[in-house]
Formats: sequence, structure tokens, C-alpha cells
Amino acid sequence: MNQFRFSRRPDIGDKVRVSFEFFPPKTDEMEARLWDTVTRLEPLKPRFVSVTYGAGGSTRERTARTVKRILHETTLTPAAHMTCVDAARHQVDAVIQEFAGMGVTRFVALRGDPAAGVGTAYRPHPDGYANGAELVGALKSAGDFDISVSAYPEKHPESPDFATDIDMLKRKVDNGATRAITQFFFDNDLYERYVERARRAGIYIPIVPGILPVHNFTQVANFSSRCGALLPAWLAERFEGLENDPQTHALVASAVAAEQVHDLVERGVGDFHFYTMNRADLVFAVCHMIGIRSHEAEAAGSAAA
Ligand code: FAD
Repeated sequence: MNQFRFSRRPDIGDKVRVSFEFFPPKTDEMEARLWDTVTRLEPLKPRFVSVTYGAGGSTRERTARTVKRILHETTLTPAAHMTCVDAARHQVDAVIQEFAGMGVTRFVALRGDPAAGVGTAYRPHPDGYANGAELVGALKSAGDFDISVSAYPEKHPESPDFATDIDMLKRKVDNGATRAITQFFFDNDLYERYVERARRAGIYIPIVPGILPVHNFTQVANFSSRCGALLPAWLAERFEGLENDPQTHALVASAVAAEQVHDLVERGVGDFHFYTMNRADLVFAVCHMIGIRSHEAEAAGSAAA
């Protein structure tokens, strides 16, 4: 496949549900941008919004603060990401209790990247949870939570083959995972093949595609090579020459993401998780194009008609 099949489907907003992912801000300026983004995306009524957790728990406090603010100042349902990196079981269990005490009912459970960096060997903490599946088990025994886990349509770089990768996903499901959210990808055929593999292995939870609108093609290209996601030649061609033209870059990016989502809808997918990068515009535009509108926008539209 060199690009997505695309047809106009103005009615699909009824069938599609979305969730959004944010990362906890480091500075006051980033904090302001995050809350502008949250405010703009809130009327689209996502099923939940998730907040990432830095390697080795480095953002524990900032993740907790962001989740708390979402709980107290918005109508949104937050999901807290958690990892096992560099933490003993009792420390991870304490973080689970901290989130649960705030009223968090949704988690995204991850092993996390090796403390020494992507590409190095992962060494579990001697008293820690060894992987995502063990963390799911810990969450499940701590409460009746909604637990999302990761999935990798192109397999995780540490998995020697797809069978090992799918086996890890199966262990997470057996321990109580409610849904899987995928690493971003740009070739829908790879996603579809992965879902077929999972179903053949007896995995029946939703496998929700993670959609990354390309805010900055150069950054995405660098990141893709580290996390093992294929960057198709046709995608590079679309962004070629736009390095210093942010407006055209954004227009192309929203069209590419909308095409990808439309094509997945045609293949029967109904749930999408957007990696927002704490920016609203592209995600808002893509949601608009797939028929997900704020009530305010719909009211304004019918008043004008
Ligand atoms: P696991 O599911 O436990 O394992 C990943 C894969 O590695 C498995 O498929 C398995 O086959 C293979 N594997 C694991 N151990 C071994 C082994 N010993 N030998 C052979 N193969 C092995 N990272 C963060 O730091 N914070 C976040 O908030 C965060 N959010 C994420 C959200 C999503 C939706 C996704 C897809 C990823 C996220 N990540 C995050 C990145 C993630 O932490 C990394 O990809 C990490 O390397 C793996 O974590 P995991 O939970 O997928 O690991």
C-alpha cells in the first residue's frame, strides 16, 4: 500500500470514539499550552484522556498533578500511565494507591523503556515488576480498574518475533487488561495484520490504533527509527520541502491523519487514540473531518443554516 484508500464519509462521527494522550508539562509555558489544548479538545467529549509517565518515574509528581487537575477542573476522565522502571513493587503499589486515592479509575500500564536508554538491555528492578503484564496483575489486585496496555503493530523492537510479541500481549490480557493501545504507525495494513494475529491467538480485547498527527516530520522520522515504526516513502514525499513552511506542513499533516483514520473506519475500526503532543490544532482538525464536533460548533452550524 502506498497511500490510504479514501472516500467521503460525512456520517462516521456517529460511529467513532476518540481518546487523547497528553504528557505532563515541565515549565510554566508548557503548562499553559497544555491547558489551552485540554480546553479546546474537551468539548469533543473523548472517552478518556491519558497522561504519560516519564522514564523511571521521573514525572511522577507532574503526572499526578496533571491528572488531579483534569479530575478537578474538567469534565474529562483521566487515565494515568504508569511504568515499572527502576522501582520496587512496594513503590509502584504506593503510586497505584496515590492515584486510586485521587479517584483515578483508569490506568495505562507499561513496563517502560530501559533506564540506560532505548536500545540498551532492559533490567527489571530486583524487587520490581518485570514487565507490563506483571504491572497489570498488580493493578487488577489493587482495584476494579480499566487497564489499557501497549501493543506494537510492527512488534516491539525487543521482541525477537511476532509470536513473542503477541504472547506478551496475551499475558497482559490474561492478567486483566481491558484494551490495548498501539504504538503509532502509518501503514494500516500492518495494523490489520497485527489485529488478525492477535485474534488468532485468542486475544479479543479492543486494539485501539494510536494515531500520531505529524506535527514535525523530522522529529517523527527520528523517533520512528528508535521505536521501530516504519516510515513509508510516500509519507516522506508528502512532507518533502516543508521544513520551513509550518502552515503547509500542518495542512498536509491533518489531511494525512484524517485519511488514515477514514481508511481504518472503512476497515471496521471505531476507536482511536490520538497522540496530541499537547497541541490541539491538528487533532481538532482531524476530529472535525471525521465528524466529531463540539456541541458549540454544531449549535453554531444549525443556527447559521
Ligand atoms: P512490555 O509489554 O512489558 O514488553 C514489550 C515487548 O518487549 C513485548 O512485546 C515483549 O515481547 C518484549 N520483551 C519484553 N521483555 C523481553 C525480554 N526479556 N526478552 C524478549 N522480549 C521481551 N513509556 C513511558 O516511559 N511512559 C509512558 O507513559 C509510555 N506510554 C506509552 C503508551 C503507549 C500506548 C505505548 C504503545 C507505549 C508507551 N510507552 C511509554 C513506551 C513503552 O514504555 C516502551 O515501548 C517500552 O519499551 C515497553 O513497554 P511495554 O509496556 O510495551 O513493555
